[in-house]
Amino acid sequence: MNIQESAISQEPTFRQSVDLMFNRAVALMDLPPGLEEKIRVCNATYTVRFGVRLRGQITTFTGYRSVHSDHMEPVKGGIRFAMAVNQDEVEALAALMTYKCALVETPFGGSKGGLRIDPREYDEHELELITRRFAYELIKRDMINPAQNVPAPDMGTSEREMAWMADQYARMNTTDINSRACVTGKPLNSGGISGRVEATGRGVQYALREFFRHPEDVAKSGLEGSLEGKRVVVQGLGNVGFHAAKFLSEEDGAIITGIVERDGGLWRDEGLDIDGVHDWISRHGGVAGYPEGTHVADGNLLMEEPCDILIPAAVEGVINLANAENIKARLIIEAANGPVTYGADEILRNKGVVIIPDMYANAGGVTVSYFEWVKNLSHIRFGRMQRRQEEARHQLVVDELERLVTVTNSGLTLSPGFKDKYLRGADELELVRSGLDDTMRIAYQSMREKWHSREEVQDLRVAAYLVAIERVAASYRAKGL
Ligand code: GLU
Repeated sequence: MNIQESAISQEPTFRQSVDLMFNRAVALMDLPPGLEEKIRVCNATYTVRFGVRLRGQITTFTGYRSVHSDHMEPVKGGIRFAMAVNQDEVEALAALMTYKCALVETPFGGSKGGLRIDPREYDEHELELITRRFAYELIKRDMINPAQNVPAPDMGTSEREMAWMADQYARMNTTDINSRACVTGKPLNSGGISGRVEATGRGVQYALREFFRHPEDVAKSGLEGSLEGKRVVVQGLGNVGFHAAKFLSEEDGAIITGIVERDGGLWRDEGLDIDGVHDWISRHGGVAGYPEGTHVADGNLLMEEPCDILIPAAVEGVINLANAENIKARLIIEAANGPVTYGADEILRNKGVVIIPDMYANAGGVTVSYFEWVKNLSHIRFGRMQRRQEEARHQLVVDELERLVTVTNSGLTLSPGFKDKYLRGADELELVRSGLDDTMRIAYQSMREKWHSREEVQDLRVAAYLVAIERVAASYRAKGL
């Protein structure tokens, strides 16, 4: 065993890591021990093994759906398709969903699912058979249900799988008028909502923008100013990493100097073109051979390069006891769930690195999922009733302004572009963005209030847990538990 492997072997499991983080926060609270235990534990985990006939033989798959807390129903959380899926992982992820939903005030308990599969090994038709069969197993036990348990995409799944699951549910529940609300992250034409695909990445952008609105917080990380010109390394250019990197570089002036992918990393001091790299990966399966920048075979080493902001956006545990000491970023924003292990978190905290924790940083996904669920239950697109009425009222103001300009003969004119911008009523996408932005701002403010409230609250992670646990506890208390 080399030094790296032995360092990693001292790590707790993902589930233990989440519990240890929970314990740090709960030690600062005054909860009755029974309630503390009730909140910490995972309520139930269902394991299913099912066979699908593929290529002339039966293949057995193992899947999970874990419910961490049903203090609010439905419970919510993605379903991931990956070979690394196991009970410990889904339980850790389900727990994070509970805290995440509480922190951003989406009215759900926490759940998570997973299927042990390498989706790249199957063609689309096979994947559909497997997904529908897994969905069937979950639906018949109410583990996919608009009122009880509402999955969403996660690693290895996307709109496509959600559409199959929603259709499977509809076939098995032909009289359920709310069947579309049984899963979120669906394509638009199957009851999805505009802006859901990029929601998690967009949420990372809004989270960073809000962080940089508070110079006092920025100073804690040793950084200053705004996002403009900040040097960023992104680990994982999947859906979340790609959108976060794209928006930060195109809209906020951040410079993406490093990208870490499965087959190595790319580095370019002047910044990488995110669309270009993304396009290359989809055509060639990896970053190798990309014409711009330098290719590094051991991509993970790029996380240790000097930069301002590090965005781990793929899997758990990538910043661990083996590399935490070498991390030079001043700010880490956890776009993935659990990318920093418990031990690494402590090392980084002692180094003064500020970590914007997963349960907040990547909550954009579940936030927009919430909007989608509400849209499905209300059976109407956001903005459909108000948009033209809003435009008509704005038209009144513009007409009046123009009349005043004419009658007063003042020679004043409206600014170019004002009319177009002001007259246009908000469509669904704009409303989704506005709702997401508001959610991310308010949740950050509730965290920072805790962060600055007491000496013992040293970091944003503990602050986030405090806010979340207080809310879950209040909900249990209200139920008389
Ligand atoms: N899988 C995402 C997460 O981990 C989204 C969950 C959801 O939208 O329910 O937060």
